[in-house]
Amino acid sequence: MKYLSFLLLFILPYSCNQKTTTIKDRPINEDGSHTTEDVRNMNRWSMQTGKKPKNIVLMIGDGMGITQITAGMYANKNKLYLEKFPVIGLHKCYASNKLVTDSAAGATAFACGVKTYNGAIGVNPDTVAVKTILEEAEQKGLATGLIATSTIVHATPASFIAHVKQRKMYEDIAADFLKTDIELFIGGGKKYFDRRKDGKNLYKALQSKGYAVSDYFQSDFTKLTPSYNQNFVYFTADDDPLPVAQGRDYLVPASDFAVDFLDQKAGEDGFFLMIEGSQIDWGGHANKSDYIVSEMIDFDRAIGAVLDFAEQDGETLVIVTADHETGGFAIQPGSTMDSLVTAFTSDYHTADLIPVFAYGPGAELFGGIYENTAIYNKMRAAYGWE
Ligand code: MG
Ligand code: ZN
Repeated sequence: MKYLSFLLLFILPYSCNQKTTTIKDRPINEDGSHTTEDVRNMNRWSMQTGKKPKNIVLMIGDGMGITQITAGMYANKNKLYLEKFPVIGLHKCYASNKLVTDSAAGATAFACGVKTYNGAIGVNPDTVAVKTILEEAEQKGLATGLIATSTIVHATPASFIAHVKQRKMYEDIAADFLKTDIELFIGGGKKYFDRRKDGKNLYKALQSKGYAVSDYFQSDFTKLTPSYNQNFVYFTADDDPLPVAQGRDYLVPASDFAVDFLDQKAGEDGFFLMIEGSQIDWGGHANKSDYIVSEMIDFDRAIGAVLDFAEQDGETLVIVTADHETGGFAIQPGSTMDSLVTAFTSDYHTADLIPVFAYGPGAELFGGIYENTAIYNKMRAAYGWE
């Protein structure tokens, strides 16, 4: 499948638009090896065994298996910010009722530490609500946030804040956002808040609760002037946000903004932030390599923005993983770095082991092979909550 010329069409203008962020061109060598500076930093982080992070940023590339990462890397001139991570592990992503998980059970494993059934949002196999790490962080006084390139009520972000027995209960999920004092959320799905079947206007309810609420109809994300005195909500679309190749451009600036915003809000207490690259999965379902690659590269740039913060901050643990692989994606014989020949075995998810990348204090906990639910336990252990 040839997509390079198509890729260049949006990579070039996008690269030129990076001025809105603080991303610096990271010095990974041309041959893909790391510079002396990188290696020194890796050693610095690796030697921090036992030090607790103040903040955790969990970044989930939905449907991002090893091949999605590989394809994004080659298409991006053989470089990804992911290469900066000193610790890599693998998790077993299966659900309680199926070997092949969906995003609801997958994210609930990270958020709640329980293996549950496909479709479950923040509930165990008996449909009983389980407290999420975001809710626990709120109770402990940390600032919290969620960012997605899907609707904000979609399975992955929903599993960190809502408790419903079926992922399609979008209006119920939206209502659960008002039960937790989350400081920031950014994503699509405005209609589940302001044009609901039950007639409630949760957009206004959020404002009444003290949130500064805005949306793409009112202002471009990068033109907002947010106040640190208020909590922050921004709706990026009425329903699903666009693919990045069709003009969506908020993931990198939103990630860049969110870490600073939450850091300010948190004071000494720290924060928990989940950022999802939601549409890598949709490229897999569509069996479209160019869709996967463009979303993968966008997600990687968001990772770069978060690493910029984490490097300067020194007290932030960054974890990057996926809920599952999507598509049975493969890079076939005949490929070159500039032109990948790809194939798919499925238009659904697969049961592959999934990589976990960790950076910063507590990163050493994430090496090895473990259950997806262990990510929840490792994050709590890193915070020092047990
Ligand atoms: Mg998702
Ligand atoms: Zn999917």
